[in-house]
Amino acid sequence: MDLVAPAGSPGSLKAALEAGADAVYLGLRDATNARNFPGLNFAPAQLHEVVETAKRFQAQIYVAINTYARAGKWADWKAAVDQAAEANVSALIAADLAVLGYASRTYPDLRLHLSVQASATNWRALRLYRDLFNIRRAVLPRVLSLTQIARLAEHDVVPLEVFGFGSLCIMAEGRCLLSSYACGHSPNNYGACSPAESVAWIPTPGGLETRVAGILIDRFAPEEAAGYPTICKGRFRVENRIRHVFEEPTSLNTLDILPKLAALGIEAIKLEGRQRSPAYIAQVVRTWRAALDACQRDPVHFVPESAWVQALGKLSEGQQTTLGAYARVWR
Ligand code: SF4
Repeated sequence: MDLVAPAGSPGSLKAALEAGADAVYLGLRDATNARNFPGLNFAPAQLHEVVETAKRFQAQIYVAINTYARAGKWADWKAAVDQAAEANVSALIAADLAVLGYASRTYPDLRLHLSVQASATNWRALRLYRDLFNIRRAVLPRVLSLTQIARLAEHDVVPLEVFGFGSLCIMAEGRCLLSSYACGHSPNNYGACSPAESVAWIPTPGGLETRVAGILIDRFAPEEAAGYPTICKGRFRVENRIRHVFEEPTSLNTLDILPKLAALGIEAIKLEGRQRSPAYIAQVVRTWRAALDACQRDPVHFVPESAWVQALGKLSEGQQTTLGAYARVWR
């Protein structure tokens, strides 16, 4: 399995390559990618250098043009495809039918990977994308169980990439309206579910409150670690019980099921986190490189080493990890 790492800056790109990523995915500095944070991402003029740097590490560069084009702004998405193709990147990651159509017609030799943002969760959907746009890989949404992934893999429509580590999103990826409802910004085009300007941390006699656009997300007791407020990971009162209603603030970690994913023929493992620091990227990629190599050497006896588990645990949201939907029994 290939290890696909994120990069939001030249520092993170270097960290990911030095730590052993097989491919690095990144976006341009505009709304064409779903991590459109201020200060992150790459200018089109940097793409050539990025590709050359990756070549020195025998690694690939994937460019995420994975948002849905806004009305009246198609020129931006078209330009992003042209710039990536011209820089000779290894693949585009896209979800919008218009972007996939334009790229496949204009650059038939350029690999297309179906983005997680397309939320393709059944083999017929994958077949349609393959037949229409010749996609060479699909990134699966983080809402599928291992059994469901196994069924998709059995159909062998297109090679699959799955998320291995990082933040969780429980909705149809990026099309969640929680953030739009609260802040007036789509997480898809604005780069974040809880934009920093909408977030407030307020000490109160009842504990530290976190709010997004004035909406109470959580209240923490003095000894509790307070996480960054994301609406889906808040604690709300439902039927007189206060609890994490949608999802707990924790990170996905699939080290435990690596041999199972390998046995299914999964082509690549994706690490989430283009918004993360170079230090975070270096540590996560180094750990996953070691784990993937060990799994490849001896999948039958593979057991995650405690040093890997500890290293990833420290970098996880709330210092906790979960297998998420891979192992969730409710559906
Ligand atoms: S608020 Fe939560 S569910 Fe919605 S897009 Fe963000 S991470 Fe996903």
